[in-house]
Amino acid sequence: MALLDCANKTTVWNGFECYDNGKVLSKMKIGVMYRCVVSDDDSNEYTVEMNPIHPRKSKCNCPRAKGKYVICKHIVAAYFSVFPMEAKKYGAKSMNCEKIKDIQEDELYLKIQNYVREMKKSELQSALLQLLMESPEVQFDRFLTGNGLRFD
Ligand SMILES: [Zn+2]
Repeated sequence: MALLDCANKTTVWNGFECYDNGKVLSKMKIGVMYRCVVSDDDSNEYTVEMNPIHPRKSKCNCPRAKGKYVICKHIVAAYFSVFPMEAKKYGAKSMNCEKIKDIQEDELYLKIQNYVREMKKSELQSALLQLLMESPEVQFDRFLTGNGLRFD
């Protein structure tokens, strides 16, 4: 667990994907360390020495971590490969977060829908005007073109 706390959230997620996509090609226990070969999306192979007891002593020869005390996604992938139960836990937790986000988005959409339906015409007009004036240019252009408001 301590190793995951040493890495930033994005790295843990990328490492999980790396592990989940079968990028950990081999692993070997050497004392307290694990030597793993982890491949990349562009099929580079990196050698990881993952130390679960002293995570900061872990090494990887990828450009991001080489010669630095950085926990990269390959080290995280090696960790998940050595401790698959941790990967399962992490995967389940991420899934729940996604589900909660989806539910929250659905609820928000319904809320907005109800709110808009109860607005008066004058309120709708001023809200639309404000949105248009503050909208990205692409959207503004689309509105002008779609409603024949262009001068050309
Ligand atoms: Zn690496």
